[in-house]
Amino acid sequence: MTRTFEAAPGIIAIDTRMFERENVTSAYLVTGPRPALVETGSATVADEVREGLRSLGVGPDDLAHIVVTHIHLDHAGGAGTLAPHFPSATVWVHERGAPHLADPTRLTASAERIYGEDGLRRLFGPVEPVPEDRLRALTDMDSVDLGDGRRLTALHTPGHASHHVALLDSETGGAFVGDALGVFLPDVQILRPATPPPEFDLEQAIRSIERIRGVEPSSILFSHFGPMAEVEHVTTLAITRLERWTGVVEEALEETDDPARVAELLREGTAMETNPADADEGRRAGVAERYELLSSYEMNAMGIMRYLRKRREAAPA
Ligand SMILES: [Zn+2]
Repeated sequence: MTRTFEAAPGIIAIDTRMFERENVTSAYLVTGPRPALVETGSATVADEVREGLRSLGVGPDDLAHIVVTHIHLDHAGGAGTLAPHFPSATVWVHERGAPHLADPTRLTASAERIYGEDGLRRLFGPVEPVPEDRLRALTDMDSVDLGDGRRLTALHTPGHASHHVALLDSETGGAFVGDALGVFLPDVQILRPATPPPEFDLEQAIRSIERIRGVEPSSILFSHFGPMAEVEHVTTLAITRLERWTGVVEEALEETDDPARVAELLREGTAMETNPADADEGRRAGVAERYELLSSYEMNAMGIMRYLRKRREAAPA
C-alpha cells in the first residue's frame, strides 16, 4: 500500500517509491475545494501516485491542478502519464519548462546523455507529452487557486535549473522547494547539493535560496524528501554547501579536467558532510546509494564544471 503522511495541515506527502526505494521522492497533495498535486515523480511511479491519491479520496475528476517545480524527470516525468487519468487537472510549470512538457524530445535526449539509453528507460520509463491545452505556464508570483482563499504562489528560483520555481502555500506558509536547496533525506539528516548540468548556476542558486529564506516559510517541503521545520538552518547550510562544493571542484580543476577524477576529488573533499559517525557500514552503503541515485557526485561534478567554464568564458580577460 502506498504510504502517505501529513507534512503540514492540509498537505499530505505521498511516498512515490521512486527507484523502488522508500523515502526518496515525495509528491504532495494540497487539499482544498480545488486540490493540487505538487510534483508527480517519474513516469515509472505514476501508478503509485494514483494509488496514493485514491487512498486519500481524490478521484479522477477531483484533482484540479498538477504543479511541478521543474521539468526534470524525477519531478515532472509522470505529468504526461498522469494527465489522462485526471482529465480536470491543469498542469502548471514555469513558462520556460512548458514547451518541454508538451514535447519531451529534448528533455529525454538531455537525460539520456546523463543516464544512457538503458538507464533512462529503467529509472524513468517512457516520458509521455502533456497535451498543450492542459498546460499553463507560470511566471514569478503567479498563483494557482485552490479555492477558499488557498493558493500556491510561484517564486522563480533558478540555479538548479533556469526554469525552477518554488511554491509557497498561503494556508500553512510551507514552501515546496523542489531541488533548489538540494537533497535532504530526513532519516539520515544529510543535505547534499544538486548541481546538475547543463544549467546549474551558483550565483542564481544562492540568490534563490536567499529568496526562499526571505519569505520566512513555516517549513521546507523537500521533493527529496518530506518536510523540514528548521528553515534558517537548512537554507544557510544549503548555501554553505553549494559554495564549498563549487570551491572543491575549482581546486580539483587545477589538477585535472577528467570528469571522473573531479567527481572522485569532490567525493573525497566533501566526505565529512556525508559520513554519519554512528552508522554501521551496511546502513552507510544504503544511504550512499540513495543519494547517488538522486544526485550523484558525477552529475554534480559535471554541472559545476560546466558552470565554472561558462563563468570563465563570461569573465573579461
Ligand atoms: Zn530531483
